[in-house]
Amino acid sequence: MNDFWNDVEPLVYKSRIKVPYSWQAGETASFFLTQLRDKKIIWGKACPECRKVLVPPRKSCPFCFVDTEKWIQLSSRGIIETFTIVKRDTPVQPLKAPFAYAVIRLDGADTGFVHLLGGVDLEKIQEGMAVEAVFSEDRKGSLLDIAYFKPTGGA
Ligand SMILES: [Zn+2]
Repeated sequence: MNDFWNDVEPLVYKSRIKVPYSWQAGETASFFLTQLRDKKIIWGKACPECRKVLVPPRKSCPFCFVDTEKWIQLSSRGIIETFTIVKRDTPVQPLKAPFAYAVIRLDGADTGFVHLLGGVDLEKIQEGMAVEAVFSEDRKGSLLDIAYFKPTGGA
């Protein structure tokens, strides 16, 4: 290194780039997403080694590294494993702040997945709270075909 850089203040500029792209969802995600869109059914996939039911379904088990095999139809109900409340708006969020994300473990599943909470007082969200999926009216084959999860009001 020469001494020139020792005398220059290092500046960092932050910016954003937008890169449109398309990707093929693949067999597992395509089945999962078309079933959400067309039938409002949430499917998981079971690992033949550890027997865990993964949702969203995975082509291979992230714990055993073997291909999953059996599709398991899941309930649209589950519990909140953990959650966070978003208090600041950013361009990438699907809702205007404040709102909540939760890791939800559906009944019959062994893994949780992240989704939005709705129809709930943000101050009253708790881990272990029972929730159910509310499906979007206009479903397009995305995870947001589940609009959000709302409290069931029961245990
Ligand atoms: Zn496994």
